[in-house]
Amino acid sequence: MSRVLVVGCGCTGALIAALLRRNKKLINITMWDKSKGAGGRMSTSRSPQDNSCTADLGCQYITQHSSYLNKHSSYYEELKNASILVPLNTEIEYAKNNENDTNYVTPAGVSSIVKYYIKESQCCSSYQMQLDSIVKKEGSWMVKAIDGSEGVFDSVVLTIPVPQLFLLQGDMPSILSASSQVKSNLEEVDYSSRYALGLFFDKGVKLDEPWSGKYVNDHPIFRFIAIDNKKRGQAESPPSVVFHTSVPFGKQHLEKTPTEVEPILLKAIKEMFPNWPAPSSVKTQKWRYSQVSKPYPGSPGCVVLSENPPLVLAGDAFSHSNFDGCIVSAEAVLKEIEDKL
Ligand SMILES: Cc1cc2nc3c(=O)[nH]c(=O)nc-3n(C[C@H](O)[C@H](O)[C@H](O)COP(=O)(O)OP(=O)(O)OC[C@H]3O[C@@H](n4cnc5c(N)ncnc54)[C@H](O)[C@@H]3O)c2cc1C
Repeated sequence: MSRVLVVGCGCTGALIAALLRRNKKLINITMWDKSKGAGGRMSTSRSPQDNSCTADLGCQYITQHSSYLNKHSSYYEELKNASILVPLNTEIEYAKNNENDTNYVTPAGVSSIVKYYIKESQCCSSYQMQLDSIVKKEGSWMVKAIDGSEGVFDSVVLTIPVPQLFLLQGDMPSILSASSQVKSNLEEVDYSSRYALGLFFDKGVKLDEPWSGKYVNDHPIFRFIAIDNKKRGQAESPPSVVFHTSVPFGKQHLEKTPTEVEPILLKAIKEMFPNWPAPSSVKTQKWRYSQVSKPYPGSPGCVVLSENPPLVLAGDAFSHSNFDGCIVSAEAVLKEIEDKL
């Protein structure tokens, strides 16, 4: 049975694994992620005090763009039927949407999309498993994680952020150097950076704001705020609020730690919302690779580094930064490797 390793349990990796399972029943799929759980930039954080108080610190809502209406409708229908996606029923102030676009939210948090596809894939997923090196050996790929764990696979798909590909050891540096065009294309890929901060409140706390989310254009630090439980249609759950900083703020403080930046963000929040009660806990997240500002030239969906054995690069860097972009990338991978498994 063909053994496939998908590195990265984010939305693209999860979609690739699910599509592979549906198209090729008899394969062994393994997924690795360096984080503690599934989601990547579609992760959902929980209050340490109350498991039912959650906040999406990355991806906020899913927009079904009119340009993908027909092409991707089966994905949206499937997630709606599984109650993973429901229509956004509250107003996001100053959101820029075309009138034919439809916005969806995830009642159980945005990581439920990723977890749904991972479950569908019937894969073996391992967390806190950071890929360190990849070496070609006797027609297969030998991979090693930084904790020393090893595996041998017939095909490998890497969905990690592009700058992190250049940190991989083993044959990776020489594979990347073998095609100067691919290497320089990868070097062109760029991401915005920003911080996210989540405030978790006790059950029963009321935050009397008329909006569930809003874009902020006139603040030196923040660009977006959401009362996350309200945005997800969970008004009765303990409140959580998500703040995203602007990209210039993210860039200015990029080399600081979240612990260093957190007091700056909390002071600004206190000035903006002086009447809010103190939260029961706070989480600050640095998104060094937030959204792709410059995709791989031509946005091909994926790039094949080796035909045999297959080694493929995928993720939103090869399309664009949203759910549709992850689908585009996952479908491109399927097209490339399906017949080789
Ligand atoms: C702040 C923010 C707001 C956003 N808002 C929206 C939105 O409203 N709507 C929308 O559709 N999209 C939004 N996006 C974009 C969307 O989240 C991404 O396009 C999508 O999640 C990308 O998925 P991915 O699987 O390609 O990458 P990722 O989610 O980044 O997955 C890559 C995975 O690889 C893992 N990894 C990295 N290196 C290694 C390694 N060496 N070994 C093992 N694992 C590794 C990472 O831990 C990660 O889990 C937003 C993103 C951010 C950050």
